[in-house]
Amino acid sequence: MSGAHCIIVGGGHAAAQVVASLCISQWPGRITLVSAESYLPYQRPPLSKSYLSGSSTIEQILIRNPDFYKKPNLDVRLATRVTEITRSDKSVRLDDQSTLRYDKLVLATGAQVRRTTIDGHGLPGVFYLRSAADADGIRQQMPRTNKAVVIGGGYIGLETAAVLCKAGIGVTVLEALPRVLQRVTTEEISAFYKRVHEEEGVRVVTGVVVKSIDGDEYVRSVTLQSGEVIDAQLVIVGIGVVACTDLAAVAGLTVSDGIVVDEYGRTSDPDILAAGDCTNHFNALYGRNIRLESVQNATDQAKVVADTLGGRLSPYRAIPWFWSDQFDMKLQIAGLSQGYDRVVLRGSTTEGRSFAAFYFQGDRLLAIDALNRPKEFVACRKALSEGRRVDPALLADELVPIQDAFAEAPQI
Ligand SMILES: Cc1cc2nc3c(=O)[nH]c(=O)nc-3n(C[C@H](O)[C@H](O)[C@H](O)COP(=O)(O)OP(=O)(O)OC[C@H]3O[C@@H](n4cnc5c(N)ncnc54)[C@H](O)[C@@H]3O)c2cc1C
Repeated sequence: MSGAHCIIVGGGHAAAQVVASLCISQWPGRITLVSAESYLPYQRPPLSKSYLSGSSTIEQILIRNPDFYKKPNLDVRLATRVTEITRSDKSVRLDDQSTLRYDKLVLATGAQVRRTTIDGHGLPGVFYLRSAADADGIRQQMPRTNKAVVIGGGYIGLETAAVLCKAGIGVTVLEALPRVLQRVTTEEISAFYKRVHEEEGVRVVTGVVVKSIDGDEYVRSVTLQSGEVIDAQLVIVGIGVVACTDLAAVAGLTVSDGIVVDEYGRTSDPDILAAGDCTNHFNALYGRNIRLESVQNATDQAKVVADTLGGRLSPYRAIPWFWSDQFDMKLQIAGLSQGYDRVVLRGSTTEGRSFAAFYFQGDRLLAIDALNRPKEFVACRKALSEGRRVDPALLADELVPIQDAFAEAPQI
């Protein structure tokens, strides 16, 4: 392995963690990071939170201090894109037409926004939100904006709406499905978010079809299929992401809603590994393949990949977790709720801003949505990772301290 060259493609959470873990474990050869972004790896979640509101700077959200990357065996190439992988001679081509040879290659290419084809989508003033450059564009437009439309009522759309609303901009959220967050949560929690956004002054319209985005030199309004015209000097489209798999697919790696990797982060080519949003990975805890979009997953999978590169096989078996900040609310999610047949509520979703929803399949606890309930989140995440069975009646009873509810739970 001595002198082996590891190339990491990507500049997000997964790439940064692979580099860090390889440096910490003293990778015995060269490491090259090739990132299409012009900034060093930074945290993406603040882009729809503190960075968008202007309360943090790019320096404050960098994942590692710039000094960390000043290592003799580490070469960081920013604003550079890998355009092709040639597996037969283990090389990658860069967009400056140069070629680099690798011994091991890690794909941490993340995800890209799903784009809309609605009439007028290309008008100036229409934005997506994935990179710091996107957030910079929105921030520049905010002072010139009285009214904004957010297309898409998922987490990023709602977080963005909250930031714009707090900045004094009149915001309308347009969601095509019957409720916001429909793909990821229950009816009660969707109704909760709609209520809170409306309490804060956001207009939330669900079950609508956007007909066109209108304007001449700049966006002026959004027209719905119903004929309603909504004024807007800023439109943000947040309709989900797709995994960046093109490089892998063209190179002949197995791709199926993400680059398919095993529990050690290995693709169908033993010298190419992958981590983060771009993967469809095997999670040994669930015994199946999953594709996730979360910092936790990107970071934990990257550590597994670095271990594999170092010859220490440690299967990926993390409990997924995620968070979302909107107004004065911190939502923390642990586990995967898919397949639930029952939700046990601690607190209320119809009054106030504090509750925990526990998802069960039969008597098996699957997941938690904790809204301003950090204690419940921490206790439940631990119980999930230990595979504990818990009495739903104890969880629902606010008089039973949450630690006690889980303390009674036997491990299975
Ligand atoms: C606005 C926003 C808010 C979010 N909020 C949360 C949150 O609150 N909590 C949470 O857990 N998650 C959140 N997420 C999701 C989280 O940021 C992602 O899951 C995480 O960034 C995934 O990391 P990654 O390294 O896999 O991919 P990414 O962060 O997408 O990084 C991929 C990188 O690869 C680069 N790249 C792609 N192709 C090439 C190529 N061919 N050559 C060179 N470079 C390339 C890209 O430019 C990019 O820098 C949020 C995401 C966004 C956009």
